[in-house]
Amino acid sequence: MSKKPPAAKKEEAPAAATPAAAAEAAAPAKKAEKGKKEKKHRQEKGVHAMYKVEGAKVSRARPTCERCGPGYFMGDHHDRYTCGHCGFTRYKQK
Ligand SMILES: [Zn+2]
Repeated sequence: MSKKPPAAKKEEAPAAATPAAAAEAAAPAKKAEKGKKEKKHRQEKGVHAMYKVEGAKVSRARPTCERCGPGYFMGDHHDRYTCGHCGFTRYKQK
């Protein structure tokens, strides 16, 4: 008598766990796919990205703001440079 109830419980437990596990496995997979798409568009950049070092020379990869002076780099957009400090915008000339 004591053997039957545990055996029945053991059979029920995996059967109940399987659908739940399958649902859990499916949900993270969807989230991971979405996360990849969102992460794809831009890499984080630090201040080091604004400078290029060639030997002993240092060059700046972006123009500095005319209003704020050196030390304030302007954001590089497809058609313009914009200062995040004062809002100054300079359009790229072609
Ligand atoms: Zn500025």
